[in-house]
Amino acid sequence: MTSESTLSDNVATPHKIPAPAIAGDIGETASPLLVISNLSVVFDTDDGCLTAVDDVSLHIRRGEILGLVGESGCGKSVAAMSIPRLIPSPPGRRLSGRIDFAGQDLATLPLSRLRHIRGNRIGVIFQDPMSALSPLHRIGRQMIETIRLHRSLTRSAARVMALEWLHKTGIPNPAGNIDAYPFQLSGGMRQRVMIAMALMLEPDLIVADEPTTALDVTVQAQIFDLMRALRSRDTALLLITHDMGVIWEMCDRALVMYAARIVESGGIRDVFRKPGHPYTEGLLRSMPALAPAHARRLPAIPGQVPSPLHYPKGCRFRARCPYAMPRCAQSIPPLYALGDGRQAACFLREPKS
Ligand code: SF4
Repeated sequence: MTSESTLSDNVATPHKIPAPAIAGDIGETASPLLVISNLSVVFDTDDGCLTAVDDVSLHIRRGEILGLVGESGCGKSVAAMSIPRLIPSPPGRRLSGRIDFAGQDLATLPLSRLRHIRGNRIGVIFQDPMSALSPLHRIGRQMIETIRLHRSLTRSAARVMALEWLHKTGIPNPAGNIDAYPFQLSGGMRQRVMIAMALMLEPDLIVADEPTTALDVTVQAQIFDLMRALRSRDTALLLITHDMGVIWEMCDRALVMYAARIVESGGIRDVFRKPGHPYTEGLLRSMPALAPAHARRLPAIPGQVPSPLHYPKGCRFRARCPYAMPRCAQSIPPLYALGDGRQAACFLREPKS
């Protein structure tokens, strides 16, 4: 099974889930806000050197929503958190790569200048809200100090702005909760406070790592609406998730990561309707909305992600791939262009000479 049509035809079109509301809004000619080139990040552990991100390149344009998707441990969070340099070092180390953001290489920018960009021009939403909130201070104080660090506002004006964003992110009784400590709020409310803090300065880029996993579907929809609304002022969003449904609903383009490398990229409709990489095909098959109605269990991708301490030679998806060939064990497949800006790192996609 090596032909392009065989791979592509194996995935159903996502007819059971609503069409993306925003796909296709971004022109290819819009200038990139962020360009990451050949980024590699490792962690020094007691067991050896762990490769978290391996030669990753990506770009995101103003006003674009880019999804970075893959299983846990594939390196997507490390790649994303490397943008504002939030990977602790040690144990993390950037081996190579540039991170060009609005004309500056964040990888080498002095920390004093980087601090001004964080929060102000790049907002970050973490999986764990306590990564962003101090347990020692009331949430209102934290929000007001963040606002005043980057905006010339009086304390009372900053408090009004903070209240407004607590309301926008669905915090009940903002006037009552603004003076709460984080531990006095539920996990979902803490998550919404952190999202409010990331969005309230209307940054140029928001890096959101599984931003709504802890929230119920109603609040999740509300947060996604807020993020989409920021596009009207050209804010770009890099959305990290393991959920292909979120990618479909929110994103213009998707990058699929596997074992520290990008294995597929393309416009959202193309990636879903005609996946170029067997791993993407497997991810789509395991989506509830795409599974056959009679299926008792969703078809999971067999096997396990290889250890980042010891990646095998050749294609890292080889042990799980139904199309693996002898040559897949010889070298890592490069990203082949598929047309329409799509790419896939699979020997099945090598142009016929
Ligand atoms: Fe499968 Fe990798 Fe070979 Fe492509 S290159 S057929 S993904 S093993």
